[in-house]
Amino acid sequence: MGTSFWAMSASLPDLETFRSEARKWLEANGEPLPTVTATVSEEDSDIEWGVGSDNVAVFHNRTEEQEAAMLAQAQAWQRKKFDAGYGMLSWSEDVGGRGLPMTYVRAWNAEESRYVIPDAGELPPTSMGLIAPTVAAYGTPEQKARWIKPIMRQDEYGCQLFSEPSAGSDLASVTTKAVRDGDEWILNGQKVWTSGARFAQWGLAITRSDFDVPKHKGLTAFMVPLDAPGVEIRPIRQMSGGACFNEVFLTDVRLSDAEYRLGGVGDGWRVALTCLGFERDHSGGGGSSMGGGLKRVMATARHFGLTDDPVIRQMLADLVIHQKVSQYTNRRAAASLKAGQTPGPEGSLSKLMWTANMKRVSDAMGRILGARLIADTGEWGTFAWTEQVLGAPGYRIAGGSDEIQRNIIGERVLQLPAEPRIDKDVSFSEAQRLARKS
Ligand SMILES: Cc1cc2nc3c(=O)[nH]c(=O)nc-3n(C[C@H](O)[C@H](O)[C@H](O)COP(=O)(O)OP(=O)(O)OC[C@H]3O[C@@H](n4cnc5c(N)ncnc54)[C@H](O)[C@@H]3O)c2cc1C
Repeated sequence: MGTSFWAMSASLPDLETFRSEARKWLEANGEPLPTVTATVSEEDSDIEWGVGSDNVAVFHNRTEEQEAAMLAQAQAWQRKKFDAGYGMLSWSEDVGGRGLPMTYVRAWNAEESRYVIPDAGELPPTSMGLIAPTVAAYGTPEQKARWIKPIMRQDEYGCQLFSEPSAGSDLASVTTKAVRDGDEWILNGQKVWTSGARFAQWGLAITRSDFDVPKHKGLTAFMVPLDAPGVEIRPIRQMSGGACFNEVFLTDVRLSDAEYRLGGVGDGWRVALTCLGFERDHSGGGGSSMGGGLKRVMATARHFGLTDDPVIRQMLADLVIHQKVSQYTNRRAAASLKAGQTPGPEGSLSKLMWTANMKRVSDAMGRILGARLIADTGEWGTFAWTEQVLGAPGYRIAGGSDEIQRNIIGERVLQLPAEPRIDKDVSFSEAQRLARKS
């Protein structure tokens, strides 16, 4: 741990001093982003046609070795940052953070954005943005000390063992069984769609510890060491090419109660909701340009001389309008959070708009590129878009599907009647029996 970390955490630094120290540190340690000279146009000032990567994949398509190498780069940067005191700016001091307000985080992000930040896909943000804060919310002091700093320094990664073949949108229906055996628990079941599991050391699992109470009440969460005997991880190949997801089989996996249970027995639903809350903030707010944003679409339309085509102009205008509306909604949500209000259905609105805009990008690029989208001619900035088009639908499912977001908006914004729930007040085993009968 660098000495500057502790020296700076003693009191709140002046924001401008903080910013200039961050700038100096970045100058000494970071790799500045390349400055582009010849550009496609002034509005697309950071896209030089044919130069640099044309990767617009939503999900990466890499070999295991490439993925490991990318993670190693992300780790190296994060460790440097962490050791200099920039890894846990807003985290509270009792778990190793600096307890700084969000204005400092924003100042750091703005400075850091001028430098190369190695991108290694979903696992680092899932670990640091979802798993670590959930451990902070529910962990014992020993568990917080065990996991938070190693995850925030990217020494270790954590993934979400939530979904199962018969429990996705209705997550409270998980059937992975956790049975108490003295000071230990024995886990049996199957998880699916686990992003990043092959490279993670830990999986936050939601399991069923009691079948005789209503479904939300019989769940318990565990941090599962993924190298434990009985854990088997199998990759799933996706249509865009890569294998970001996995099936995770748990067979007689023995876990110490004191070490690995996260939250109380029967508290698993609260743990899951907390983690999903972080996921919703994470998916709705950021990533607007994931898989290639507006600038790339415009640059491509210009490159192929299509900005005079009335149908394409209409599509581009539609895209600009919807992206602006989405930005304003995100800003409104951020402003209400800043004003101390609890996150509301804006998260659902933001997520819906974000995924709808990714689809608009796909549709516009289909029209702009035509056959170039499906025939790989080796031409820069063309066939690469297949990975955007085939990957974008995934985010209409991840983190709460479109239909689930619409249900939330229907109930919480439009005050429509809630969906009928036959399983609310009956035990989970009785609910399963009723479901089989219906
Ligand atoms: C990119 C990506 C990453 C993921 N990463 C992870 C991960 O790391 N860990 C993990 O545990 N899971 C992960 N998942 C799984 C994800 O959480 C589930 O796919 C999601 O919750 C939907 O569940 P399901 O696939 O079982 O579909 P289902 O829940 O079976 O839904 C099928 C269809 O029915 C609709 N539907 C379901 N219920 C309702 C309802 N009440 N009203 C109206 N329509 C409804 C859905 O919208 C959907 O169209 C990931 C998925 C994706 C796509």
